Amino acid sequence: MKHAAPHAHALKDRFGRTINYLRISLTDHCNLRCVYCMPLKGLTFAPSAELLQADEIEMVVRAAVSVGFHKFRLTGGEPTLRADLVDITRRICSVHGVADLSMTTNAILLPKLAKPLKDAGMDRLNIHVDTLDPDRVKRLMRFSSKDEIEAGIEAAENAGFTPIKLNCVVTRDYNEMDVVDLVKRAVDRDWHVRFIELMPLGGGEPSHVALANYVPTKETRARIEEALGPLIPLPVTNASDESRNFRFDHGRGVVGFISPVSEPYCGGCNRMRLTADGRFHLCLLNDDEMDVKKAIREGGGVEAVAAILGKAVASKPTGHRLDEGLSTEDRSMFQIGG
Ligand code: SAM
Ligand code: SF4
Repeated sequence: MKHAAPHAHALKDRFGRTINYLRISLTDHCNLRCVYCMPLKGLTFAPSAELLQADEIEMVVRAAVSVGFHKFRLTGGEPTLRADLVDITRRICSVHGVADLSMTTNAILLPKLAKPLKDAGMDRLNIHVDTLDPDRVKRLMRFSSKDEIEAGIEAAENAGFTPIKLNCVVTRDYNEMDVVDLVKRAVDRDWHVRFIELMPLGGGEPSHVALANYVPTKETRARIEEALGPLIPLPVTNASDESRNFRFDHGRGVVGFISPVSEPYCGGCNRMRLTADGRFHLCLLNDDEMDVKKAIREGGGVEAVAAILGKAVASKPTGHRLDEGLSTEDRSMFQIGG
């Protein structure tokens, strides 16, 4: 069973934030091309030799645990495209001090992977589903289909990943009309659905999609309440949870809103990101990075990696200008992992 290492002292950054959550991007590849995330043409992906290998990822996790990290998430690109995903999961879960391992996925490959991942120690899954309208899935998530998403969700439930958590990025003219349907599905089943504001990260196609199709949380919430009645706020149990959560007085599920543009939550940020090509990316919305792969491949061990992580935490910035359309310029969302 996993439990946080009692001896590790969590790192604090210069703004007093405790940083104990590492998001690990396993690849920049994806089997989908969501309009706001990836263009259909002109993509170049990191060659596989440039990606951190399973043993290198394990070393980073050991280093992170030694400086007080205990929560980890696999992301991408699409993490299920890594052939060694189950091995990576097993390795991470074997590290003493890892208290929680989760993964964000588009669910397409879950029918074959959900059970092996559960058996390897994965605790939780977040499933990305922007709409369950068959035509709009095709238009927004492109190479996906309603049936494949449904099969992925079912596989996750059957493997014991409950409650199911769904992530929906609300995108004007593509799926803002489907939020009520998603909520209905969730609240009847004890699921947790979270609506995320579209960020202007410019990786999609056409490149203006994220800016022009932003829908504020206020509007999404109003649409849901108009159709289904008032949402009742749930108490904040975790200050670093970026989602503000609600429920209805009827229904069992939870409805959450993640509002990076209209209500930035930098003050509660507890996370560090590791890019697939082995760099600590200090803040989703800024460009600063520190190379950890180079240190590992030059023979540095767990202590060397922990020292780089310490510097990365000490240099973490705060504040962004998303509301002015400004964000990271050198990286797209699929390279950082959301
Ligand atoms: N492929 C996996 C998935 O889609 O869940 C993991 C990686 S994906 C980059 C992680 C999350 O970022 C997804 O929920 C996706 O919808 C979200 N995302 C991608 N581009 C975004 C953007 N411009 N603004 C807000 N969220 C975005
Ligand atoms: Fe792929 Fe996830 Fe980006 Fe969609 S949001 S294109 S599923 S990485």
